[in-house]
Amino acid sequence: MSKEIFVIIEHRRGTIRDVSYELLTKANDFANNIGGSTAAVILGNELDEMVQHLKSSAHKIIALKNEKLGDFHSEYYQEALKSIIEERSPLLVMLGHTSASYDLAPALAVAMGLPLISGCSDLRLEGNKVITLNQVYGGKINAEYSFETEKGGIITLLPGSVPAKPGGLSAEVEEVNVSFEREFEDKVFIQFVESAAGEIDITQAEKIIAIGRGIKEEDNIAMIEEFAQSIGAVVACSRPIVDAGWLPKDRQVGSSGKTVKPKVYIALGISGDFQHLMGMRNADTIIAVNKDPNAPIFGAADYGIVDDLFKVVPAIKDKLAQL
Ligand SMILES: Cc1cc2nc3c(=O)[nH]c(=O)nc-3n(C[C@H](O)[C@H](O)[C@H](O)COP(=O)(O)OP(=O)(O)OC[C@H]3O[C@@H](n4cnc5c(N)ncnc54)[C@H](O)[C@@H]3O)c2cc1C
Repeated sequence: MSKEIFVIIEHRRGTIRDVSYELLTKANDFANNIGGSTAAVILGNELDEMVQHLKSSAHKIIALKNEKLGDFHSEYYQEALKSIIEERSPLLVMLGHTSASYDLAPALAVAMGLPLISGCSDLRLEGNKVITLNQVYGGKINAEYSFETEKGGIITLLPGSVPAKPGGLSAEVEEVNVSFEREFEDKVFIQFVESAAGEIDITQAEKIIAIGRGIKEEDNIAMIEEFAQSIGAVVACSRPIVDAGWLPKDRQVGSSGKTVKPKVYIALGISGDFQHLMGMRNADTIIAVNKDPNAPIFGAADYGIVDDLFKVVPAIKDKLAQL
């Protein structure tokens, strides 16, 4: 049985996505535990710079090159991965649980007859079984799933499951020029659409003030925007705020929103349901304000204030103004 773990690297416009470093961290820990090794598998056209960035994060880098792989295209990706997986038979193929993988991972698993477990937050090897941890029923229950390693298998790991840490490795690089016997013309990459200039990208923010249903009314958001501006923060939110149409979808933090990793995350009137925590639990410092001392957000917070946010926010603003 091979003990190599393939990590499929996600990149966008020449930049490796954070989830790939998280996957590599998890894969390296897993490989260490079983006496195995990791291979970062990156697909694309111009890969040299990204390969340099990956060198310390895996034992090996396999760079699959073809101009058709320049932008993510699930059919070409699937074809290229299928042949390298067939050839090398890794123990496990790991992808991020991202929109690209929703497209790629199940189709790849079916095409190869491999088991797939999606949306895991952890994994271990027991005997000849890979066992994963998955949260089900909106995070209320933990479930374990497994597959036997005989044929290998595919898993997708939730972004934010593990903080990325430096690997301290020195990968050997293997370049493979991929060729395709057929064209996949039904699906065409047209263009990459950037967020309009001026829009706020909460994933890049160092300070975030996030509001939840505790904000009560849309008109109260102005006070939070003002507070955020005064400390150089951006305003994000939980899902009900987006559902109410009070803030745009790109401000939503959580499993069906964005994953953020600011230095400071201030959660105001957010209960801290699992789906929200998934998007912010890796923030460096979490400060929560909630009237309910039993709110789950306090389980994730470094500092907690049990009080009415409409009292706390003006008090903090006044204090900061004095300072
Ligand atoms: C498939 C799925 C995906 C989901 N994805 C997401 C997601 O990506 N992001 C997300 O956020 N949610 C998501 N949800 C919804 C999630 O389950 C919760 O319903 C949501 O996070 C709750 O938002 P909230 O904390 O703002 O509201 P609530 O749960 O209603 O909590 C409001 C909190 O405010 C407190 N409060 C009230 N008034 C005050 C006050 N004056 N001062 C201080 N505290 C006050 C209350 O004590 C309470 O804890 C998803 C759900 C599903 C089923």
